[in-house]
Amino acid sequence: AERTLSILKPNAVAKNVIGSIYARFENAGFTIVGAKMLHLTREQAAGFYAEHDGKPFFNGLLDFMTSGPVVVQVLEGENAVQRYRDLMGATNPANALAGTLRADYADSLTENAVHGSDSAASAAREIAYFFSEGEVH
Ligand code: ATP
Ligand code: MG
Repeated sequence: AERTLSILKPNAVAKNVIGSIYARFENAGFTIVGAKMLHLTREQAAGFYAEHDGKPFFNGLLDFMTSGPVVVQVLEGENAVQRYRDLMGATNPANALAGTLRADYADSLTENAVHGSDSAASAAREIAYFFSEGEVH
């Protein structure tokens, strides 16, 4: 089965809905095979979002992603990358379909509650960014 990297962003953690979102993962057929809570440093956030370095929203994105703890997990399942993107909904919550995580938990385009890898190659890089071999099961 495929794996993808998921992050519950600081606004989601602050809403006290970690358990509710984990239930959504499990109800959608994903298995959580690795998990940790972290408060990202600016350097960690910049490295994670390096593809966006130089974009107008980059500094605001780093401000937000370092504003409080995040919960990072590896989700496993058939076609996990695309199925988890579908569960999250559109990047901009104004465009997120009803029933998606971003429709239910996002506050704005930046504070959009969850992250998910956008390809199998990104998933491999992002999982290795946060987890060592013995931390994914
Ligand atoms: P993520 O990578 O967080 O799963 P995504 O792949 O849907 O989201 P990206 O294009 O990779 O979206 O952008 C990364 C994050 O940067 C978005 O989730 C959002 O928080 C923020 N972001 C993206 N575009 C903008 C924008 N135009 N203005 C403000 N913030 C933005
Ligand atoms: Mg992305």
